[in-house]
Amino acid sequence: MIISEQTISNFKEIIESNQQFAILVHVNPDGDAIGSAFGWHNLFKNLGKESRVIAPNDCPDFFKWINDANTLLCHDTKEAEVADVLLAAQVLLCVDFNHIDRSDKVKTLVENFKGKKLMVDHHPYPQDFAHEIISIPEASSTSEITYWTICQLGYRELLTKSIAESLYTGILTDTGGMSHNSSHPDTYYAVADLLTCGINKTEIHDLVLNNYPEGRIRLLGDILSKNLRVLYQYNTAYMFITEGQQKYFGYRPGDSEGFVNIPLSIKGIKFCAFFTETPEMVKVSLRSKGDFPANKFSAEFFNGGGHHNAAGGKIKGKLFDAMHLFEEGVKAYQDLLTE
Ligand code: 5GP
Ligand code: MN
Repeated sequence: MIISEQTISNFKEIIESNQQFAILVHVNPDGDAIGSAFGWHNLFKNLGKESRVIAPNDCPDFFKWINDANTLLCHDTKEAEVADVLLAAQVLLCVDFNHIDRSDKVKTLVENFKGKKLMVDHHPYPQDFAHEIISIPEASSTSEITYWTICQLGYRELLTKSIAESLYTGILTDTGGMSHNSSHPDTYYAVADLLTCGINKTEIHDLVLNNYPEGRIRLLGDILSKNLRVLYQYNTAYMFITEGQQKYFGYRPGDSEGFVNIPLSIKGIKFCAFFTETPEMVKVSLRSKGDFPANKFSAEFFNGGGHHNAAGGKIKGKLFDAMHLFEEGVKAYQDLLTE
């Protein structure tokens, strides 16, 4: 993976001439957001810099073992502290998102940030809100881009085991354990080098993928038996989770991680959705196989975006509204779905 010499030299100049860094991830941070953010954070620390990682809201507990992840500063619980950190920071590095709306309630603070803004991301169609941008939509993950950026910046020798664990977590989660977004050999060269840093791949898989509460498995059973709809005529399926189910099974953020992919394992299904009911809106997750553009569908119907095969969005309204709109959208896209 080659990042332009000019971009690398601009990044290096900004990193080396500043001392106070803030790193920001998107709302509902996932493994790649947390992995890349704490990869950078620990790199900055190794360079003798001050750094804090900020999120609009908290990440799932099963990422908290990552070095310093327990210091994640969440805007929804520590608004004043987030504002103070951003006031003191000279550089704001945004990772794993490329549209300012994904910073949710931190958006105004990002817009008003006085220092240098950097972005490192792998989503298509980046918005131009940062001074320097590393955007590689073909990359498996922001964590992989972070690895290559660290190497090109000449900081490879600062890549400690804890940074490698963090970056590996991002690559693991964004590729579904190397099942998608991971056909380029570079991803494996990066992982091979991370393994040389002494990471325990098996242990990381256990910490991230086999560390759920019992309620999650029971919740999955309930959803699969009650809330799965298959639209065979459109090669499409969807599932949903109600607020009642969330209460009953003690749902915590991250508990439904991976559920969205399950309908794609039904023979013939090439597009699927997962709807999560909240008091204010319905969160929509979309996944597709092959040519079907989940991100385009999300932008058109759910005010969202994302990758070609993995996208998301939301709709103000009830579950019924989301499912109705989804079925309307699927009908509109039936030519692509049935070809
Ligand atoms: P997930 O379904 O895992 O929440 O999200 C899948 C992908 O869609 C991620 O790449 C994420 O960045 C993107 N995504 C999720 N929700 C939204 C949203 O509300 N807006 C946009 N633009 N992208 C989203
Ligand atoms: Mn990502």
